[in-house]
Amino acid sequence: MPTIVQKFGGTSVADPERIMRCAARVVEARKAGNRVVVVVSAMGHTTDELITLASKVSGAPSPREMDMLMSTGEQVSVALMAMALHSLGCDAVSMTGAQAGIDTDNAYRKARIARIDNARLERVLGAGAVPVVCGFQGLSPDGDITTLGRGGSDTTAVALAAALDVASDGGTCEIFTDVDGVYTADPRLVPTASKLRHISYEEMLELASVGAAVMHPRAVLFGEKFGVPIHVRHSQKPDVGTLIVPEEQIMEDIVVVGCALKPDLGRISLKGLPRTAGIQAQILEPIAAANVSVDDIVQTEFGDTTTIAFTVEHGDIADVKGTCQGLIERLGRGEIDVEIGLSKISAVGTGMKSHTGVASRMFRALAEAGIPIHNITTSEIKISCIVDRQHGERGLQLVHDAFGLAAGDGVTADMQSTGRGRR
Ligand code: ASP
Ligand code: MG
Repeated sequence: MPTIVQKFGGTSVADPERIMRCAARVVEARKAGNRVVVVVSAMGHTTDELITLASKVSGAPSPREMDMLMSTGEQVSVALMAMALHSLGCDAVSMTGAQAGIDTDNAYRKARIARIDNARLERVLGAGAVPVVCGFQGLSPDGDITTLGRGGSDTTAVALAAALDVASDGGTCEIFTDVDGVYTADPRLVPTASKLRHISYEEMLELASVGAAVMHPRAVLFGEKFGVPIHVRHSQKPDVGTLIVPEEQIMEDIVVVGCALKPDLGRISLKGLPRTAGIQAQILEPIAAANVSVDDIVQTEFGDTTTIAFTVEHGDIADVKGTCQGLIERLGRGEIDVEIGLSKISAVGTGMKSHTGVASRMFRALAEAGIPIHNITTSEIKISCIVDRQHGERGLQLVHDAFGLAAGDGVTADMQSTGRGRR
C-alpha cells in the first residue's frame, strides 16, 4: 500500500472551514488506498503573531524560549486537524515533532534534522490511524524543542516521506498550498504562463534562487538527496499539480522550463581597490556574516587597481554600503558607487546542458524590445540578465515567450496531445 505524506501550509489551515476541507482530502486519499501521514503548519499568520508577542516582552528573546513559543502554533493545528479527522470517522493521532521521532541538532531557530526514528509513526500507521505531525519542529540532543527555520514545515514533510521511504511503493510527498503548482513563470506577471507537469529538483532549486518561491529550498534539497517525489498542488482544488522528480525521470526534451524575475536589486561597485590577494574575501566575508546574499559578482582589473561589483536586494543596500565603507577606510583607498532600480530576469532548464544557442535566444528577445542588458551571469542550467527595473516585467514576458513557454504555443499543444509534455 503506497504511503503519502500530505503537508498543509498555514493558509490551507487558516480557519476551521479550511481545516475541515483539508481533513476531507486526507480521508479521500485513504479511501483511494493509501497510508497517509499529515504534516501541518501553524494556522494563518500565527507564527508571525507569536514572534511579535515575544518582542513585546523582550528586545532580545532567548532562542530557546523562542522555539518553545513558536512551536506552539503547529501544536494547535495538529490537535484541530486530528479532531477534524475524528469527526469524519477517521482514526488520527496528533504528534509533536519529538513524538514523531524527529531529532535535530542544537541550533535553536535554525535546527537541522539529524535523524528520524519512524517506529512510532509506523505503529500508528499499522494500527490504521493517521499520524498528524507538527511541521517545523524537532527535539535537540539536550531534549529541548527546536524549530527548523521559517517555512520549515515543507522540510518536515519531505524528511518524513524520506524516513518512511514513500518512493519504494509508489508514494509521494504532497505539498498542499495556495497555488496550483509550479508555473513556467509567475502567472501574475506573465499571463501566458502555464503549469508544469514535471520539474527536476535541480531546476526547482535554481528557480527558487532567482525569485520563484513555491517551496522551501531546503525541502527540495532533502527531496533530491533521498529521491522523494514531491507533488505541489492546490489545497482547495482537486487538480493534479506539479511533480518534482529526478531529472532522469523526465523524458521530454525541453530546454527552458521556467523564467523568473527578481524585481528589486541594487548594484554596489567598489572601485580603485588595491590588486592584492585576498581582497575579495575581505569584502565578501563580512557581508556573508551578516547573512546577506550577494549575486552577479564581476571583477575588472586596470593597472594596479581592481573594481569589484555585485548585486544585492534593495533592502540590504544600506547595510552592505556601511560594511564596505568601513573596509575602504581601513584600506585607505577605493570608492563606492551604488546603483538602484535594477531587476534580474532568469531562464532555467537542465536542457541547457545539452543545447546551444539558449543565451543568444534570450539576448535576441531583449534586444528586439530595445532593452539594454547591464550584466549577464550563467550557471550550467541558468542564464540571468540584469536590466533596468522599468523593463523587468516586459522583459520577463518576452523571454518567457521566446522560449516557447506560452500557453497554447504550438509546441506545447503538440506535446500535450501526445501526453508526453511537461505541460
Ligand atoms: N509556521 C512556520 C512558519 O510560519 C513553519 C511553516 O509555515 O512552514 O515559518
Ligand atoms: Mg507558515
